[in-house]
Amino acid sequence: MIYERITLIGLGLIASSIIRAAERGGLAGEIRGYDLSNEARATAREIGLGDVICDSLEEAVTDADLVILAVPVGAMGGLAERIGPHLKPGAVLSDVGSVKGSVVASVGPHVPEGVHFIPAHPLAGTEHSGPRAGFAELFDNRWCLIVPAGETDPQALVGLRAFWEGMGAHVDEMDPEHHDLVLAVTSHTPHLIAYTMVGVADDLRRVTDSEVIKYSAAGFRDFTRIAASDPTMWRDVFLSNKQATLEILQRFTEELFRLQRAIRQDDGDLLHDYFTRTRAIRRNIIEAGQDTDAPDFGRGAVRK
Ligand code: NAP
Repeated sequence: MIYERITLIGLGLIASSIIRAAERGGLAGEIRGYDLSNEARATAREIGLGDVICDSLEEAVTDADLVILAVPVGAMGGLAERIGPHLKPGAVLSDVGSVKGSVVASVGPHVPEGVHFIPAHPLAGTEHSGPRAGFAELFDNRWCLIVPAGETDPQALVGLRAFWEGMGAHVDEMDPEHHDLVLAVTSHTPHLIAYTMVGVADDLRRVTDSEVIKYSAAGFRDFTRIAASDPTMWRDVFLSNKQATLEILQRFTEELFRLQRAIRQDDGDLLHDYFTRTRAIRRNIIEAGQDTDAPDFGRGAVRK
């Protein structure tokens, strides 16, 4: 056991997976949960998520040794302001938000003296949301980036690291600004491109909806899966990681124009060289164990 009592706030995909993974690893003596939505709390109780699902924030966080905020990034600051006065001295306050600079800025000022604030971001997810979406294997062999906000108590850091490792993740540390740039490249901009492509297909009235669905080939199907991700979460990601996303989008647009010109000018060599380079990147990802050819990292097979 790493913590006597942990609390998850926002009982969606990530929190419910943390609860399942922490139970699997025996990492906490007691697990509490809270969600703003009555429906999410009722579902969490129905499916037996954690030990206690609380009806108030105060009850959820009082006496917790670790509190994890697992709500959309835009809601983190307001939540921290509300729970701050009820956090126990010595407790660790963490989060799982997909953007770190804005979370450090919005949560940081509400962290009381004696509470250790250590932001984190597990690089794992699916397009599903809500308490039923979670599963214990979500973090297995995935990275969790711990993003210390300034001076951090070494013992508190060791504990949080062990907690994520206990849930099957590999842990790395990164500073918030670098995190946001890396994620803009690897996750945020690709999501925006997927949203755009699905939007384009929807707008293209020459290709009827039924044709898009019936003949949807792997490329488009992958886009539709990504574009089915939670709208609130992704709205907040883009509004919170504005600078890095816009920078990567600018580069993306320049590359797109280059490929567009190559197609117009029948420059097959450029296209071939380009695709050869990108194919190598895909191989490296598979070699690094960060994907398989199976959809959803092959985890669908183990989901209940
Ligand atoms: P989710 O399944 O949509 O769950 C979020 C839950 O938080 C919802 O039940 C929501 O209730 C609740 N909530 C919203 N505002 C709240 C508040 N102020 N107080 C208490 N509960 C509140 O989302 P998720 O996918 O687990 O994502 C949670 C966080 O993890 C986000 O910050 C996201 O950036 C990050 N993350 C997500 C992924 C991913 O792939 N999904 C991966 C890594 C990190 P309502 O539905 O009623 O709004």
